[in-house]
Amino acid sequence: MACGIYLHIPFCGRRCPYCDFNTYTGMESLIPDYMQAVRAELQLHAAQEPNPAGEPLRSIYFGGGTPSLLPPNEVGRTLESIHKLYGIDDQTEISFEVNPGTVDGARLSAYRKLGITRLSLGSQSFRDEQLAVLGRDHSVAQTRETIEQALKCDFRSLSVDLMYGVTGQQLCHWRADLEQALSCGAEHLSLYNLTIEEGTPYARLRAEGKLPLPNEGLLRDMYISALEETSARGFERYEVSNFARTDHSCRHNRLYWEGRGWLGLGAGAHGFTAKGGAAGLGRRWWNLRLPRKYMSAVKTGHLPWAGSEDLDLRAAIDEELLLSLRTRRGLRRERFAERFGFDPAVLLKNSLKELSEEALIQVDSQAIRVSEGSVIITDYAVQRVASLFDRRSVWAIVSQHAEPRRAG
Ligand code: SF4
Repeated sequence: MACGIYLHIPFCGRRCPYCDFNTYTGMESLIPDYMQAVRAELQLHAAQEPNPAGEPLRSIYFGGGTPSLLPPNEVGRTLESIHKLYGIDDQTEISFEVNPGTVDGARLSAYRKLGITRLSLGSQSFRDEQLAVLGRDHSVAQTRETIEQALKCDFRSLSVDLMYGVTGQQLCHWRADLEQALSCGAEHLSLYNLTIEEGTPYARLRAEGKLPLPNEGLLRDMYISALEETSARGFERYEVSNFARTDHSCRHNRLYWEGRGWLGLGAGAHGFTAKGGAAGLGRRWWNLRLPRKYMSAVKTGHLPWAGSEDLDLRAAIDEELLLSLRTRRGLRRERFAERFGFDPAVLLKNSLKELSEEALIQVDSQAIRVSEGSVIITDYAVQRVASLFDRRSVWAIVSQHAEPRRAG
């Protein structure tokens, strides 16, 4: 059964030129009907897979888009429906993405009273010049005001996003941004390297040679200074881009990285059932992307799926490697063996020893992890571990001996 729910709110006041998320401007008038469709989709899932164990959800996440465009009454109605069908208790983490400039103290206080426990703030930078380069719809003063109001409302956790690798950004700018984020009262930081996504205005500018970006060396220095500064201020890096004080890591992120199930609700949302699919190794699905098409599909009484994929053994193993090795906990040997029927640290002992000697990974009785010194090249380290499974001899043994647990 699902351990969490993700709700996608595909509306934004303005489109940022680097963004390729499923989000739309000028459609806010759809919000009441859209949220009604989200609640109807929830009912459809609950009819198919009720919650017989009666265990409350571990996490609910309102993401987007800009969830803070939602009036509190819509948030309240939606949480009520979720509570009736799946159960919320005081251990459920309820996260909500907020863009500065879209909320005031009264709205934040209303969200808090409805049970939201965690705010994730799309701050991106504490420099107005950089916000302008990023095409953001808010100022640093608005970010500061939102943080001040959020702290007054006493959310359990406050997270801020920062972006590095931006045009014109220098190491001193990045260090100053980090300093502001680390001292603003937030317990969680998400630090993203700007990526150029196909089809965005940024991709066009880049292709025309009009978007100079920091070189590899500078990006590396920025990431290293993030590792140093966060660690010096008591934040733990629990995933490549995510840092938190003790007990403040994002539960939704953890469900995702630990390969647990969640319902994805809303236009373009993705969901995952950990034990579903033909092989019992997991099924992912994704909804229709366009809000109006999504809403019409829900009205017909069918799940608004655009597609689904059952994971086979190879895909499930690849996914487990890719997600778990990006986290500090690493790949849990016992969980892997339970899921796939073999312990990779035993089967690949000699090859993993070579990677350990190269100081790329560490293997102990519990886990395989990317070593602290190699975290900056995590993608490369993950690729090297994944490539071990490409050897025909290894794959023949895996296919013969793996006994994946099937859904009961
Ligand atoms: S506010 Fe966020 S979701 Fe909306 S366009 Fe900008 S980056 Fe994309």
